[in-house]
Formats: sequence, structure tokens, C-alpha cells
Amino acid sequence: MRTSMLLTVAALVGIVLAHPHPNQDPPQPEVTEDARLKANDVRILNRPINRASTAASLGTTTWDPPAGMVSALEEVWTETLKRRPNGHGAFDKNREFIPKLMANYHRTGAGKIDYCVAMSNERNVTALERANMKSGLQRVMQEWVDTLVGFEGFPITKVDLDVISYAVTHRSQVQGDTTGLDIFTTSEVDNEGTTKCDPRCYRDNLKTSTDGETTCPGGEKNMFDMELRLAQWPMNILGFGAEWGQAFRPWFIFRHTDDDMLWTLRHEMGHSFGLIDFGTDTVPTGQENFVMRGHRAAYITEFDAWMLRDWWMKLKAHNGW
Ligand SMILES: [Zn+2]
Repeated sequence: MRTSMLLTVAALVGIVLAHPHPNQDPPQPEVTEDARLKANDVRILNRPINRASTAASLGTTTWDPPAGMVSALEEVWTETLKRRPNGHGAFDKNREFIPKLMANYHRTGAGKIDYCVAMSNERNVTALERANMKSGLQRVMQEWVDTLVGFEGFPITKVDLDVISYAVTHRSQVQGDTTGLDIFTTSEVDNEGTTKCDPRCYRDNLKTSTDGETTCPGGEKNMFDMELRLAQWPMNILGFGAEWGQAFRPWFIFRHTDDDMLWTLRHEMGHSFGLIDFGTDTVPTGQENFVMRGHRAAYITEFDAWMLRDWWMKLKAHNGW
């Protein structure tokens, strides 16, 4: 048994490493980490999970989680409130994905999320890399939203995600056709020394679209909902997700927007939906492998979906949607 499992893993490692990746950068120091991640990816793919996209329980349009998940979901909510007292801003600051989606829906009648990408490095980003990055963000956003479509009054079916602005050191870093993009280099530098998107154009509940017209240079069309920060940091951190957006090392997000390593983006965007981390010590009863438990699932699972549905129920009740 052990031998055959090892052989299976070895075979998969061979396949993954041999799989040609288009438009890969020239080898960089990080490539060693990249190989390690791919081996890790194999481990994740070998775990049995119930993908949200095929889970029968998600066909229901009312709160009716599978019996085996009821206690686990209660534990998750208790843990959420423990780590985020009063929702830690979720109920008043309205900065996470669901409130933003709802605000944009009420403003425009459509599913819409706009991003600003902050590159605190001197790296160039090609037109193809930009397109891949946007399609990865778009794909994962829709995967999460698909778990809410038609559920308990959630009104959005499709989300149009766009990258509308870049914060860079030099304008020339953003290569290719930049028509319609807001690119600026006069961004503020925060305490960590990273380039920031223009805070005046960040759309949160403190800036209505009316305020935005006067405070954001360029007005409403230059306002963004979320940030994607591309920065270098210690090798053992794959990514980061919070209410303001997500962060990755640039080589990682540019290379893995079209393969199974997209699980990291699924996980980090899950944080921006308000979902919390689960490590090895805190495991909801009966739930082992899901994407919000790091390195445990490559895809959004049935359990991840019900955790997000729970958030929708809570936010809906709080906001009277
Ligand atoms: Zn996490």
C-alpha cells in the first residue's frame, strides 16, 4: 500500500514538473521554492475533497447545510467571533467582498469588483502577465460567487472583475497597451515601505460614489474595491489575504493563474470574503480538507461554500438586504 502510494505520488510529481508552463520567466532564485510548491501541490491534489462545484447540497436555495456540517459550521462561527469580535469590522466597515459586491450591485445593478495592483518592486509586468493575472482573479471570484448564486436572496449571478489601476515605481513597468488604465507613481509609501494604491480612490463605506467624484483623481471610474499587492517577502509565506485585498510574490501570481496552484488565490480571496484560517490545531468537527485550511484542498469545497453562505446569512440579516 505504502509503496503504491509513493509510486503514485512520484508519477504525479513527474507529470506536474514536466508539464510545460507557457510564458515562464527565466529562472530566478525563487524557482527552488516553486518546485517545492509543486510537490506540495501534488500532496494537496491527492486529498479527497467534495468540490463545491459538484456538491448536491449547494443546489438548495435556503439555509439547509448537510447534517454532518451543522456542528462544524457552528464551531466556525463561534471561532470567527472569537478571533474577530463583533465581526471585526465586517458589520460596520463593509470592506470585504460581500458588502462591496452588494454596494456595487445597488449602485450599478450588476456584479462588479475593481482592483488596483500595487507593485512594490522594479519588476516589469507584460501584457500577457496582466491578462493572466486578471483572468485568475476573475475565475476565483466567480467560483466563490457561484456558491451563493440564488441562495437566500443573493442577487448576483456573474461578477465582472477588472484591474483598473496600477501603483508602480516607474510607469514603464506596466508593459503593453495601457489604454484606460490608471497608472500612478506618486503613491504614498506606507510603514513597510511598499507602494500603495491611491487611498483616496479606495471604495469603502466612508466614500460613497458621490464623495469619490471629488476625492479620487479621475473620479468614479478610477475608484477600486480591492488591492492586489505584489511584493517580495520571506520564502515561507505563499500569500496573504485580508479585508483590503490579497498579496503575493509577483513571480507566483504571474505563473500560477492557470494551474492548480490557484488554490492559494482561492484561499486568500476567501479571507477577503471574511473567512478565517484553520490550521492543524483548530479543525471543525468532521471537516479535514477544505481550502480555508491551508495546504488541504486545491479547490473550493462544499464546506467552504457553506461557511461563505453562513457569512451571507449574517450580513444579510445585519444589513437588511
Ligand atoms: Zn490563510
